[in-house]
Amino acid sequence: MCRHLAYLGRPRSIAELMLEPEFGLLRQSYAPRDMRGGGTVNADGFGVGWYPPGAESGPARYRHDQPLWTDSSFRALAAATESGAVLAAVRSATVGMPVVSTACAPFTDGHWLFSHNGMVTGWPHSIAELAGQLPVTDLVTLDAPTDSALLWALARDRLARGLSPERVLAGLVTEVAETARGSRLNLLLTDGVRIYATAWSHALSYRATAGSLVIASEPYDELPGWVPVPDGHLVVGGEGEAHSMPISGAAGPGPAHEHLDAIADSRGA
Ligand code: GLN
Repeated sequence: MCRHLAYLGRPRSIAELMLEPEFGLLRQSYAPRDMRGGGTVNADGFGVGWYPPGAESGPARYRHDQPLWTDSSFRALAAATESGAVLAAVRSATVGMPVVSTACAPFTDGHWLFSHNGMVTGWPHSIAELAGQLPVTDLVTLDAPTDSALLWALARDRLARGLSPERVLAGLVTEVAETARGSRLNLLLTDGVRIYATAWSHALSYRATAGSLVIASEPYDELPGWVPVPDGHLVVGGEGEAHSMPISGAAGPGPAHEHLDAIADSRGA
């Protein structure tokens, strides 16, 4: 299972966040500490999205389908690039899914960055009905034929239709877990100002310190302050603060798509 991380705070270099920490994403790409039975290494590519200071145009992104430790060009880029809002991931492709750069998180649209750590069991049949809610054009333009790219298309569609990020992630996890039992659904989303993340059958921790927040699959150092997120919880936060809540409560009543229909009706759509 992949490993991911999101950071908000004072501008830091991407190398400082991904490559330098003792147990950071670089180390997690070949020696993760808490994979919970879901694979061994994360060597099927990696990606990072960041918000260039002062840029109104949304995040920049770099993705590659090779192991993080082999990309020597990335080292220089990561050392020279600073941002106060970053989302990064290393990938372990689920069996049957392609190893291509476009399958690597983060997925993006507008000001959003998104990552999925886990797998949808019974893919693709188990999730075909949910996928059928999407416009055909979204389905034929997925970044890659993977569960994660489809989860992003579903989340993006719901965000665009006005649902809150909390409800989008909680609703999606609830619905996918219902139709594809046994799925692992750690989702991570940011707009560069807030971070939203779910823990569903996989490891997740956060650390909020004065002026910063990190949410990550695994703590990247052994300093104090890391808080493990209980399974089945959603964690939401900004610089210096975060709180978690049960996904069952955050999903709200009924499937999210019923709520979306209600929004569409009230807009006269
Ligand atoms: N199932 C997704 C993929 O193959 C995510 C992989 C993971 O978390 N290991 O891309």
